[in-house]
Amino acid sequence: MPLVCWQSVEASITQTTGRLFTVQHQSQISGGSINRAYRIDDEDRSYFVKLNRANTLPMFEAEADGLSELASASAIRIPEVVCFSQAHDQAWLVTEYIAFGRGGSDSSRLLGQQLAALHQCDAEQFGWFRNNTIGLTQQCNQCSGAWPEFYREERLRFQLNLAARNGFTGSLQQKGERLMESLDTFFSTYQPQPSLLHGDLWGGNRAFDAAGQPVIFDPAVYYGDREADLAMTELFGGFSSEFYDAYREAWPLDDGYSVRKTLYNLYHILNHANLFGASYAAQAESMLDQLLSEIR
Ligand code: ADP
Repeated sequence: MPLVCWQSVEASITQTTGRLFTVQHQSQISGGSINRAYRIDDEDRSYFVKLNRANTLPMFEAEADGLSELASASAIRIPEVVCFSQAHDQAWLVTEYIAFGRGGSDSSRLLGQQLAALHQCDAEQFGWFRNNTIGLTQQCNQCSGAWPEFYREERLRFQLNLAARNGFTGSLQQKGERLMESLDTFFSTYQPQPSLLHGDLWGGNRAFDAAGQPVIFDPAVYYGDREADLAMTELFGGFSSEFYDAYREAWPLDDGYSVRKTLYNLYHILNHANLFGASYAAQAESMLDQLLSEIR
């Protein structure tokens, strides 16, 4: 990475914190799916930096807003935002660097309780004040008072239209259309509140600090049905039974969750089809079959 970029990042940290910061050591961090990530240090401070091309600055702005929104709930530890900017064809987001530890079953239990507390933070409407991204895909958050409408238009229709543009036409689209027409069926006896959501809560976006406190990061924040966050934790695994037990103890789930979790994960699998291709489109179609069988 060109030296000039570190100079711009240093200047941005210095300006925001009011204390001169000069990178004395930098090391790349793996595990991300989109950006290059680094830890940078001077003799007494460490920061976490994500870098990408300059045109990704809006993505970092939205991520910074999401981290701040989550932090304002004071429910789960969130990396504190330091600054974001761009120069010389690079954009960056700088946050507090957190040294991660292992986290045992107590930490998992705590995460369950803290996630339930996060979900208790609610808003007047579903959506958010701004759009953001899910992976590299735009995520639209136009506010609505009706959850089924929000989920149909801002989540399913958006991804299905994108899928059509990516060549996933035919039966995927027809089944998607039928699901969207019948979406109210899944909410006949269940009306969620607009809960503050992480929005992209797979196992790679949570960790535990050195003291075992849960940390969540890399969000795709909006206000929605809390079941959507829980469904995503189940999609790629990595969350323990202690986590789920603690969550349900703090805030029991409706029986219909076991069906709706497929509905919520369909959004992420459609997004994966749009980002990574055909095998996910096949998975999306079999999820659609499963959901359509519920409304026959
Ligand atoms: P991407 O946007 O590319 O998916 P992530 O936000 O997931 O990147 O970050 C990449 C990796 O960096 C994560 O998997 C995690 O291990 C680590 N990480 C994320 N945030 C921090 C932080 N504040 N401090 C230390 N490490 C972090």
